[in-house]
Amino acid sequence: MQFAVRHLVLAVLFVGPALALTVGSSRLERIPDDAKLAEVDAKYLAAFEVVDDAFVGKHVRDARSAALGLQCWDRITALFPLSYRKLLVQFNIMSGSDPAGVFDGGGTNDVGRRGYRLSIAKSCAEKERDLANPYRAVTPRRGTTDWTLVHEIGHYVCLRGNVIELFSQSFDGDMVPQPKRREKPDDYPEDGSPRLDGNFVTSYAERTPGDEEVVETFTTYVLVDELPGPGDASLVARKIRFFDTIPGMPELRQHIRAVEDRAPRDRRTR
Ligand SMILES: [Zn+2]
Repeated sequence: MQFAVRHLVLAVLFVGPALALTVGSSRLERIPDDAKLAEVDAKYLAAFEVVDDAFVGKHVRDARSAALGLQCWDRITALFPLSYRKLLVQFNIMSGSDPAGVFDGGGTNDVGRRGYRLSIAKSCAEKERDLANPYRAVTPRRGTTDWTLVHEIGHYVCLRGNVIELFSQSFDGDMVPQPKRREKPDDYPEDGSPRLDGNFVTSYAERTPGDEEVVETFTTYVLVDELPGPGDASLVARKIRFFDTIPGMPELRQHIRAVEDRAPRDRRTR
């Protein structure tokens, strides 16, 4: 009996990963090929048309990229309620490593519907070792897959919520005294953690005023464990706390940070 049980355990250990791959590929096969997407730029290794939570059309040039695309999308839907990504109608995995992600904010896409196009680099998706678990704890460090996914969706969230304009009026407009921005700052944490003191959350935020700084600050606001307290008067603390004043943002932060609690019971790690 023990012998049989041991073999059953071994069989599950060996067959399990293969089964996961098969499930992934059959899920991909169920998404119909879409002739419109066959015309997309060669840099897109896998392109999907999106309706709400689901991929309803695809064009796959690289099967591995398509599999990564499914996992990235699962992560996005686990982190963000539908209302915060409702008009995303195309999702791509793209070649190259810089940029790690792109949000096309002009309402342009290749599927011919009104809406936005979001692309993540294959090399970025491959950085996350636990990508297959959409309910993993968030990683609050720039350069990780999570940071890129949240940053790119952040472009959508901030654009749709008029947050870029409101942030600019408070911190980045012509009427506001500006701290000096350095072209090559080299004193941010090497592990990609954002800074919660000083003037800017990340080196990228310091180098790139406008949308990118707003979105970097948004990403910091929703991903870091602890926000700067109300007694912290540094510019960066005020920029991060600004998001607490935007309707819906505290709830969104809470929703994203509680992602582990939404895991199906058999996937929970705590
Ligand atoms: Zn950006």
